[in-house]
Amino acid sequence: MDISRPSDPALEGAALPLAVRAGALGRHVLRRLARGAVDLALPPLCMACRAAVEEPGCLCARCWSRVGFIERPFCDRLGTPLPHDFDAAEGPAVSAAALTDPPAYGRARAVALFGDVSRDLIHALKYADRLDVAAPLARMMARAGADILADADALVPVPLHGLRLWRRRFNQSAALAQGIGRAAGVPVRSGWLARRRATTPQVGLDRQDRARNVAGAFAVPEAARGELAGRRVVLVDDVLTTGATIDACAKALARAGAARVDVLVFARVVDGRVVDGEAAPIS
Ligand SMILES: [Zn+2]
Repeated sequence: MDISRPSDPALEGAALPLAVRAGALGRHVLRRLARGAVDLALPPLCMACRAAVEEPGCLCARCWSRVGFIERPFCDRLGTPLPHDFDAAEGPAVSAAALTDPPAYGRARAVALFGDVSRDLIHALKYADRLDVAAPLARMMARAGADILADADALVPVPLHGLRLWRRRFNQSAALAQGIGRAAGVPVRSGWLARRRATTPQVGLDRQDRARNVAGAFAVPEAARGELAGRRVVLVDDVLTTGATIDACAKALARAGAARVDVLVFARVVDGRVVDGEAAPIS
């Protein structure tokens, strides 16, 4: 999938008077030069808060301490943190939530709890054309999902509908999947899952409405079914909220014959809480 960097309108405007005289090739070269000069002039900035940092693609100490990283022990199904005194010696632990309301996917893994810092990072990627944050976030996701990636056959990004993809110019889940694929050596198969119809944005909908909104919205294209059958798939998205979208995707892949569907996201909401500040209290 082509995820080339969208052009910067401000930069193009600056280079325009010269570029018009220089013609198409010159315009291209000038743009590249202008961009290089800007890259050199700017000190590296924190991916979340834009404070100065040592090197590009990292977080400042303050943001790092507020990420809310998910560490063991966590629920093997949902990837949600378990109480710190939980005895993991017995093997993979499953939370009560996963037992009473099992997800359509096998196992989910997330780098962090959804909170201020993860929201800033994801918004930068999603709405501000900050493709520079895709690779660092993807590397963090590859580490958090090491166990589900180890024997995975393919990564499948959650697809955006055509119209929204056109408006936003790129699919952030596909950008993350490409980075994870590079870090973990797992191929990306964007064509294995398609959005059949546009859905209203999930923001502001409750759990039931979200499930209704996405029911039947995803399907495996006929041409991909042969290749998908029997494969172990990892679905990739930026955030897992109620899980309605991810569940709808997992069901579509499983119905089409996937042997296993796991999930890898950057951040996930736990118990509807949004994390602010230091490590989230786990009850
Ligand atoms: Zn920061």
